[in-house]
Amino acid sequence: VAQSDGDLRSPICCILGHVDVGKTLLLDKIRQTNVQAGEAGGITQQIGATFFPAEVIEQKTASFSSRDRINVKVPGLLIIDTPGHESFTNLRSRGSSLCNIAVLVVDIMHGLEPQTLESLQLLREQKTSFIVALNKIDRMYGWRAQPNGAFCSSFQAQPAATQSEFATRVADIITQFAEQGLNAELYYENRDKRKVVSLVPVSAVTGEGIPDLLSLLVGLAQKHMAKRLTYQSMPECTVLEVKVTEGAGTTADVVLTNGMLYQGDRIVLCGLDGAIATTVRALWTPQPMRELRVKSEYVHHKSIKAAMGIRISAPNLQKVVPGSRVLVVGPGDSEEAMMEEAMRDIASLHNMVKKEPRGVWVQASTLGSLEALLGFLHRSNIPVFDINIGPVHKKDVMRASTMRHKAPELAVMLCFDVKVVLDAQRVADEKGVKVFRADTIYRLFDKYTAHKAAVAE
Ligand code: GDP
Ligand code: MG
Repeated sequence: VAQSDGDLRSPICCILGHVDVGKTLLLDKIRQTNVQAGEAGGITQQIGATFFPAEVIEQKTASFSSRDRINVKVPGLLIIDTPGHESFTNLRSRGSSLCNIAVLVVDIMHGLEPQTLESLQLLREQKTSFIVALNKIDRMYGWRAQPNGAFCSSFQAQPAATQSEFATRVADIITQFAEQGLNAELYYENRDKRKVVSLVPVSAVTGEGIPDLLSLLVGLAQKHMAKRLTYQSMPECTVLEVKVTEGAGTTADVVLTNGMLYQGDRIVLCGLDGAIATTVRALWTPQPMRELRVKSEYVHHKSIKAAMGIRISAPNLQKVVPGSRVLVVGPGDSEEAMMEEAMRDIASLHNMVKKEPRGVWVQASTLGSLEALLGFLHRSNIPVFDINIGPVHKKDVMRASTMRHKAPELAVMLCFDVKVVLDAQRVADEKGVKVFRADTIYRLFDKYTAHKAAVAE
């Protein structure tokens, strides 16, 4: 894959937003419009990410007037495929985000929704630059689609009533952002793209506005982040997901954000039951699109350079904590010291939370989601007794149940995106511990508030 410019690496982009705003469809459309227009060129699907080379982005923006056209200096753009909090919160290193730029998707028909606010909070905490995609413009009354066009030319083709509906909706959304303490403007009217949030009207169905979105992303990244995008040889790598791959056992999907990774590398990871040291058996990415007929699903690599999404095959990955770092053992490094270092990811979370004698139990699937949840509980003044990562076991419930006597209303386990093993649920029922599960923070919060209200009655 083209990583031509030796100095800069590709910016990493995450997509966030409320459920059903069109995050998945938008991603699909970005990929597919390029393929349909014969621009598939070097677009490569990676594990958990899609790589758009500079040439493709230049083609995409060629339809713009010369004023808007950008000169792409980065090798390309790496868009993370798992939209939502999940990948954003896990793409982290020592608590700071590895996501260089984000797209916050808002449904233009709905405005800001509960998870939009959660996303905004996360973006602020991590100080991540972002632009807003105002999706579903095609749903406005009387919209005449100009498939895959730049927004401004589409807009000129709309009936007056549709244009005025658009103006009203945008004004409302700008007000809603102001209520969150943020200045926002339509991107083509925005003179200070660093301080004022840019709104990009798009449709994931018709593809309108996608050229605008892509060029704005790259333009912003290279204008303001050259320093952060300087390629460094020191490997920097984060686990997004751990899963079973047929014929290869448990594998880890990672994003290599800097440096190189080699087959045979000795790596150290943070595990649920302690640090894991292992050796990279294989590095995979999916087949390039034009070679889809090739039998095997994945391509093996001897080495891979950042920024890339990669599936790692290695022994003993079962208990790796998603959201933790992959440390690469270099010549002269002490593996023992690195094993301690790897576990600091969990330790720092334990230190971050102020554990109260009376409080709720908090458990989440990944480091990133646990951190996000703890931040939220802190702001909501909900005291936390203790935390854990991974599936809820009997021993977690037993410890949470000690709250039953101290503060019965707090004998609650807030479980974010984790399984509760069967006998753990049974013990919870016996001990009178309430187990609340949800895969968004606000739903978990709603369940907890409803419980609190019920107890208070
Ligand atoms: P996600 O939950 O944010 O990933 O949302 P999805 O991509 O799954 O989309 C949710 C629903 O909205 C689906 O039924 C989509 O077909 C629809 N949708 C998404 N984007 C658009 C759009 O731009 N226009 C219209 N009309 N529908 C859309
Ligand atoms: Mg989705």
